[in-house]
Amino acid sequence: MKSFIAIFTLFFATSVLANLPAGREKLNTILDKVEREFTPDFQKKGWRLVVRTGWKKDELNAYANVGAFSERKRIVSINGEMMRRNLSEEAILWPICHELGHHFAGQPLYPDSRLSVEGQADYWAAQVCLPRLFKTEFAENLFPAPVDSIYYRKCETKYSSELDRQACARTLRGGVQFQQALFEAIRPSLESIKAKPSERRNTEEVRWLQKYDASHTPLLTTPDLNIIERTRYDHPAHQCRVDTLLAGVLGEPRPACWYKADP
Ligand SMILES: [Zn+2]
Repeated sequence: MKSFIAIFTLFFATSVLANLPAGREKLNTILDKVEREFTPDFQKKGWRLVVRTGWKKDELNAYANVGAFSERKRIVSINGEMMRRNLSEEAILWPICHELGHHFAGQPLYPDSRLSVEGQADYWAAQVCLPRLFKTEFAENLFPAPVDSIYYRKCETKYSSELDRQACARTLRGGVQFQQALFEAIRPSLESIKAKPSERRNTEEVRWLQKYDASHTPLLTTPDLNIIERTRYDHPAHQCRVDTLLAGVLGEPRPACWYKADP
């Protein structure tokens, strides 16, 4: 059914089930808070938000779906592996906001779908969702203030209030940490494809992995200079996603490494 499309934040299977026990309760607490914050937005659209956790799932992955029988049912699912990766809460909010973004971020949408494309979901996460969450009471006291950091300095010139600056800097810090964790998670596979190109592999997985640039860790200071000819629907490279995060939080145009305006 066309309306039932799963959009993956990241797709790959990790080889071992991570064995860190903690985190389930923390993930549920975070999801409860996010749900409470965004329920009015879903209601305004006439939608019903359904949040799911696949706690035992060992893929570092999250999903957004529209219900198979009703497009009013809007699903966000987060796998437990997110909590077994030693990510900060700041970083974990990032994939949650990205999945909400598939529902709320608007154009460009996936073809034949109600869901925004990957770059657009990232852009909305950085522009709307994360700064909003970081200004709530729940997030304000959760994290150390990122003053005197590269993140804060980027935000200082754009925002005049301390609350806005802090929310912006936390958005950047969490987003960069999350993209770096994704990059580190797939790097061994990328390196092994490069080292042994003739080895038999799952061709779909190889095709998926080859989109990524394994040459460097994504940073705020190393922008992706590629210019695409047509808006990209799937996941941009990690560096391009960091650039999108920066553009979103500073209110700048979507980067040309994934977005091209209609002529
Ligand atoms: Zn996605």
